Amino acid sequence: MIDDLKQLNESALNKLKELNSIDEILNLKIEYLGKKGHLTSVLRNMSKVSKEMRPEIGKVANEVKKSVEASIDAAVETIKDADKNKSLSEKLIDVTLPGRRGQLGRLHPITAVIEEIKDTFQRFGFEIEEGPEIETDYYNFEALNIPKDHPARDMQDTFYISKDQVLRTHTSPVQIRTFEKQDPPVKIIAPGRVYRCDSDVTHSPMFHQVEGFLVDTDVTFGDLKGILVAFIHQMFGDKIGVRFRPSYFPFTEPSAEVDMQCVICMGKGCRVCSKTGWLEILGCGMINPALFEYVKYDTEKYTGFAFGMGVERIAMLKYQINDIRLLFENNMRFLRQF
Ligand SMILES: [Zn+2]
Repeated sequence: MIDDLKQLNESALNKLKELNSIDEILNLKIEYLGKKGHLTSVLRNMSKVSKEMRPEIGKVANEVKKSVEASIDAAVETIKDADKNKSLSEKLIDVTLPGRRGQLGRLHPITAVIEEIKDTFQRFGFEIEEGPEIETDYYNFEALNIPKDHPARDMQDTFYISKDQVLRTHTSPVQIRTFEKQDPPVKIIAPGRVYRCDSDVTHSPMFHQVEGFLVDTDVTFGDLKGILVAFIHQMFGDKIGVRFRPSYFPFTEPSAEVDMQCVICMGKGCRVCSKTGWLEILGCGMINPALFEYVKYDTEKYTGFAFGMGVERIAMLKYQINDIRLLFENNMRFLRQF
């Protein structure tokens, strides 16, 4: 009988090792230690045992019962602990973690540069004006002193809509439209889209220009120079050198192209500035009195200056972008950098 009891103990402990739910373990307890369990059925044979042996068997039976009970209680505790830890770690909240923010949109580099140019000139007292993107030949060319057969028409690869209508090739038509409805003084900045039949790493068929012009009494080239140098310093920093080179535009006389010191190499010479140390940034000049004749301004009384710049070029230099097409692909990973 003692052997039976020891075997019972061993088999109970072996089975217990394979169980991993509390229900299964409690069933095992009933199976071995319950009223109709294995221990009870072994002890039923007690009547067949001699009286002298009974205390000894009783002692062993008691030990087996205690041992099985203790192992079962320990196994139940282990499972309870594991369940508790698991549910704690699942519900764990780290209150020191930063919250999730909604993603903020941002301005496209072109829009950001236009806004900055507008802001700068508004501080100089300029007002914003706009004009149509589909223009007549008259406003885009004729009234800007570019008559038909004028060689300057070849300078611009024009998209014609009809014989008399074009997609404007520059923002300069806004000058004529403003002069027609307003007498001097006029002090206008006119940003907008323009179109030319041209496409490569530095040219896009649609791009943005900002036109600026000022007409009043006693306006000189010195005023023009002062405004443009202040503007370039505002956009690129005070240390950037600026120079004016004589040039030709049909609607200004005299005309100049404005260079600024290369922002990449600070004038030392690099690939971007073709080793010259200078970058062309805008065109300008004193408004050709021929334009005033079209809009009946008194050419004896008024003088004015005008300038025009490409927004993409300024954005590319400011943000060091080397391919204009990147600005129009709307690749979010590219645009998020700015
Ligand atoms: Zn350079």
